[in-house]
Amino acid sequence: MGAQKASEDGDRRIGRRALIVGGVAAAAGTAVLARDELARLWWRMPGVEKPREEGAVDYADARWVAASDANWRRADRPDDFGIDMVIVHVTQGSFDSAVQAFQDPGHKAAAHYIVGQDGRITQMIRELDVAYHAGNRDYNERSVGIEHEGFVDRPEDLTDEMYEASARLTARICARYDIPVDREHILGHVEVPGTDHTDPGPHWDWDRYMKLVRAARTAQAAPSGSPSPTAR
Ligand SMILES: [Zn+2]
Repeated sequence: MGAQKASEDGDRRIGRRALIVGGVAAAAGTAVLARDELARLWWRMPGVEKPREEGAVDYADARWVAASDANWRRADRPDDFGIDMVIVHVTQGSFDSAVQAFQDPGHKAAAHYIVGQDGRITQMIRELDVAYHAGNRDYNERSVGIEHEGFVDRPEDLTDEMYEASARLTARICARYDIPVDREHILGHVEVPGTDHTDPGPHWDWDRYMKLVRAARTAQAAPSGSPSPTAR
């Protein structure tokens, strides 16, 4: 377990936390702490998680806005769950409405990234963590989800800037986790088993997108993406 006894002269706060964690271990099965309290504590145990930095992003061109933690689950990917898929979504709303929805604890869903029609990228959940975006637990655990600003029935929403920015992002993710650049591993939400969602819709140009991802992957190939997060 790794919980340590607080020493008399140790930091009081840390000592108390160690005691709480120890108490959780001792009282397993009893309702000493609420379930969500447990969920927040387990990852604090030594050796479980990678260091995290407030505001850090996994993609240098993204800006960070935190999603509500009700819309994702803390994990330690790719060590606990391997990542072998990128899932493409369309928001059915504006960029800002998607950001707001992902900040809303009642929304019960969020993707790692949102790409705007102007090519801007906001990251809202770390790739370490499991975002609730695919409507399928297994696919959520194995994938990175990317939303695109627009409506599935409006082809004009799918701009050049958006395709290009998204393709660079996807290429970087594929490089980071050694994901093959093909349609088995880069798929639409509609292709996730059990989903009732239709995005990214009939106007999403897969041939064009995959070509752009391949080109970006080749261009980025030389010194491949650093696995460490970039603080902004
Ligand atoms: Zn979707």
